[in-house]
Order: sequence, then C-alpha cells, then structure tokens
Amino acid sequence: MKKLVILGGGYGGMKALNRLLPNNLPEDRSITLIDRNPYHSLKTEHYALAAGTISDQHVRVSFPEHPRLTYKAGNVTAISLDEATITLEDGESIHYDDLIIGLGCVDKYHNVPGAKELTYSIQTIHQARRTYQALNNLGKGATVSIVGAGLSGVELASELIESRPDLSIRIFDRGEHILSSFSPKLSTYIENWFKKHNVEVINHSNITAVEEHYLYNHQDRIQSDVIVWTAGIQPSRVVRELPVEKDKQNRIKLTPQHFIPGYDNVFVVGDCASLDYAPSAQLAEGQAEQIVEVLEKKWKNEPLPESFPPIKLKGTLGSLGKKQGFGLVADRPITGRVARLLKSGILWMYKYHNG
Ligand SMILES: Cc1cc2nc3c(=O)[nH]c(=O)nc-3n(C[C@H](O)[C@H](O)[C@H](O)COP(=O)(O)OP(=O)(O)OC[C@H]3O[C@@H](n4cnc5c(N)ncnc54)[C@H](O)[C@@H]3O)c2cc1C
Repeated sequence: MKKLVILGGGYGGMKALNRLLPNNLPEDRSITLIDRNPYHSLKTEHYALAAGTISDQHVRVSFPEHPRLTYKAGNVTAISLDEATITLEDGESIHYDDLIIGLGCVDKYHNVPGAKELTYSIQTIHQARRTYQALNNLGKGATVSIVGAGLSGVELASELIESRPDLSIRIFDRGEHILSSFSPKLSTYIENWFKKHNVEVINHSNITAVEEHYLYNHQDRIQSDVIVWTAGIQPSRVVRELPVEKDKQNRIKLTPQHFIPGYDNVFVVGDCASLDYAPSAQLAEGQAEQIVEVLEKKWKNEPLPESFPPIKLKGTLGSLGKKQGFGLVADRPITGRVARLLKSGILWMYKYHNG
C-alpha cells in the first residue's frame, strides 16, 4: 500500500482529505494525517475564543474517518526530502510516498525585543486559550494593547470590547488608516466603529520593544496589562528550515502543479506556500483542490496539468463584534449587519460541510 502523508489538518489539509475521501482514494493508497491536535481547529475563529465570546468546542471540527485514513498525533520537527521521511518530536520517523505539507504559520516578531516572550497570540488554539485566560482574568479598567491592525487584530479588538466594555483597549496600526489595503470606505467604517466603542486606534505606530506590562511605540513607553501580538506571520519553523527555494516571506516556491521543484511527490498547501495572493483559508482550500487533481492524475499515470486557472477567491469578510461586519465581496465593499450575517453564514456552511 502506497502512503500519502498529510502534515497539518488545517484548512488545506482538511480540503484535501475531503476531496479524496470517502470515494476518490485509489484502493492501493492510504493516508496518514499528522497533526499536533486531534481535531481541525477553526483558526479564523480564534479571535472569538480568545475574547471569550465562543466556547472551545465551537472552534473544533472532527477529522473525517475512513478505513484507510490513520490519524497520527504528534509534533512534526523535521522533514527529510531526500529520505522521504517525517520526524516527530518523540523521535518517530514516518515514511511517505507522497506528501502534502500544510503546517500553516506562526507569529512573526520582526526582531522586536521581548515580543516573543512577553506577548500573547491567537495563532494556535493553545495560544488562543492562553490569551483567553489572560484577557478574561483582567479586572475592571485594565489595559489591553493589540499590536497589529490586520484582520485578526481588528476582529479581536472589536469582539473583546463588545464583551468587556470595562477594559481599556488600544490597537496599534502601522499605517495611516486601518486595513488601508481594503478600501477607504471600509477603513473609515471600522475606525468610526472603534471610536464609538472607545477602542483607541494608534496609527503610524512602530512597536520597538516589549517589557513586562509595557510596550514602546517609537520612544513612548505605554503601560499594558496584556499585550496581544497580531502583527505578522511566517511559515512554521519546519518549513522555514527546509533547504529549498523560498520567497521573501519564507514561503516555499512551487511549480504550477504545487510541488517543490525536483520533488514531484511533495506538495505544499496554504500559508506555507508561495502563491500570488495573501494567505487565507479560502486560498488554502482552493489550492488543495488543485493539488488533489494533480495527485489523482499522477496516481493514474496521466499527464499532469501544465497550469491551473487562478484560484477563485470570493472576497474577505471581517466581524466587528457579533452584530456588525465589513468586507470586500466581488471587489465591492460591504458593511454592517449584512456583512456580519454573511460571515456567520459562511462559517455555518463550513461546519456543515465538514461534519
Ligand atoms: C484570527 C484570524 C482570523 C482569520 N480570518 C480569516 C478569514 O476570515 N478568512 C480567511 O480566508 N482566512 C482567515 N484567516 C487566515 C486563515 O486562518 C489561514 O490562512 C488558514 O488557516 C491557512 O490554512 P492552512 O491549512 O495553511 O493552515 P492552518 O489552518 O493553520 O493549519 C495548520 C495545521 O497544522 C498543524 N500544525 C502546525 N505545525 C505543526 C507541527 N509542527 N506538528 C504538527 N502539526 C502542526 C496545526 O495544528 C493545524 O492543524 C484568519 C487567521 C486568523 C489568525
């Protein structure tokens, strides 16, 4: 039996599994899924878990079951492309015939002293749980600083102020306006929402150091009971350490068929892959579909597609607490209740389709 190993049961890994199972996996193939968690974690909802507005169970989705799918719990520490093996933290070595690497990303601290050690994170479910505890144990009037006003920082700040209006929350934004890459209409809408809900937006910020309960914005020392870092991502360490060509963000450069040049049995999906768009769950899923197409052709010894059409992205939606939202759908900005309902609807559909 030949073995496909999937590293990471995130959005990319889950989509690959759901395309192949239950009926599209050839009889002579088996799948081993390796993830440190025994469930798929809905990363796009980690902000709400950290804010304490949804339960832990809400963020977990079971992995599919199939007689030829083995789930292996473990922390991947190394990949040997030449030996076709994966090493786990406990020393176990696992051989693969084909491999999909979908290990996602971790925070990037831009060498800011103290940031890694002293800030909280929402990148993994474990980190989001830890952040939940820190935030929800705060007393009345405590100060929270959120570094980074991208989608995850904005969603966290708004969710938190709605559930804990007694906290004093600041969000640090590097640019002139929040989410300026979206559209001026959306930036203004979000900034007005924050003003109305007493979240202080600090534009043109540059966090230069973090100390216990303090951060430095340029030279200003600012007291913060809890600091949450949402200011940048990079591929997981195992991927960064692979001796293959990467882009400026350290994501792996791939052929048009999504495998590593020189290794036509090793595919990379999602946040670890160098693609033409910003990383997102949607992108990981679209790419996983194409990877499965390539695998199916390869397994049948058919010629591989020379290229694929661009992955269709439907847009981006963000929440501002439980009632309001914003987004770009078919390149058009939308705001308010409709945007929030759409976002909730998409999450509902995702959970429905993933059992
Ligand atoms: C707060 C927040 C909100 C977001 N909102 C959106 C949104 O609205 N829309 C959108 O499209 N995208 C959104 N994103 C981005 C989206 O979550 C990611 O782009 C997406 O999760 C990438 O999918 P992936 O399959 O590459 O990795 P992931 O979904 O991160 O999965 C990686 C998997 O690998 C496992 N793993 C990692 N390292 C190891 C290891 N060493 N050993 C074993 N297992 C390991 C993890 O447990 C995880 O299951 C958001 C992100 C955040 C943080």
